[in-house]
Amino acid sequence: MALYAELHRHLGGSVVPRVLWRFFQRSHSDLAQQFIDYTAFEDFYTRPRSSLAEYLELHTLVESVQNNETLPYFIYRLMRGAYVFENLAYLELRYTPYYRTPEDLSQTQRIDRMAQIVETVGQASQLNEYPIITSQILCMHSRLPYEVNRAIVDLAAQMPNYICGIDIAGGDALYGERMDEFVELYAYARNLGLNTTGHVYETTEGCHPELLPYLMRIGHGIQIPLLHPELLPLVAQRKQCLEICPTTYLKTGTLQDIQQLKVVFDRCFEAGVDIAICTDNAGLHNVRLPFEYESLLTHDIISFSQLKTCQENAFRHAFAWPLNQEPISILNRALQASPDLALLTDTTLPEYS
Ligand SMILES: [Zn+2]
Repeated sequence: MALYAELHRHLGGSVVPRVLWRFFQRSHSDLAQQFIDYTAFEDFYTRPRSSLAEYLELHTLVESVQNNETLPYFIYRLMRGAYVFENLAYLELRYTPYYRTPEDLSQTQRIDRMAQIVETVGQASQLNEYPIITSQILCMHSRLPYEVNRAIVDLAAQMPNYICGIDIAGGDALYGERMDEFVELYAYARNLGLNTTGHVYETTEGCHPELLPYLMRIGHGIQIPLLHPELLPLVAQRKQCLEICPTTYLKTGTLQDIQQLKVVFDRCFEAGVDIAICTDNAGLHNVRLPFEYESLLTHDIISFSQLKTCQENAFRHAFAWPLNQEPISILNRALQASPDLALLTDTTLPEYS
């Protein structure tokens, strides 16, 4: 069994439609009643949107039911699916903790509740029956005030046992007016020793070169090879990895055809820029990581050897993968070191031929 690393998955968008539907039926019948049946709900939940802004509105639907009490329910199902259906050995889960705190509290009270949310997510994602190495990325958000975003950075620095990095999310077209603020927050985060990624260069409105020097990885970044290939040598020099999430761009209307991604991969490979293939919102898309891989292969966007390189990149650029090698190396070493295991691989054994 191949084991994979997933670097870009949102907690809100990770809930597959069937799980969310069952949750609505059990606990929020008012929400379930808005749809004739499950098929109608799934169609609403997974259909393409006309813009990134419209697409992100869907996150608020899930965020509204994810709180300290319900998060273990969702995360248990997320981990179970990721282990059984996606073969994940490693998962970085990202979200904005502030949006999981009670809306009726004051801003200060909500900030104070964020650590509890991180603790709940961290505890809920450690399952003996579905063992995946996980860590959290906390997302600053373009709609949140400076004080909250700064508190998110501080929290990331205070809880390294659960948190491996920070991100900026909420629609890359919205950063513009507040760019100085976000640059300062990223500089602050780097000074605290935090790992960084950020949603930039996802859409044509999200090209913010000011943020690039502070990012260790780039959330999406597809507009760099598409519109600004002159930046690729610098991205390669900084060893920044692009987190490419193929299905997202079709769901948000950013790309019209998956074939447009061929230019992205070709230019990055040519320039020596690493790419990790990710899902972004596997639940919202109803598309799991192995299908993202397969889809890129069947559409002739990448070759098998390029896919393998991207899968290795995911482990190499992971913020919290604790080993200096991939699972495949560990399994190969185990096979070579153990005579019993080596015997099992001996194809000359008559009972296995
Ligand atoms: Zn994302």
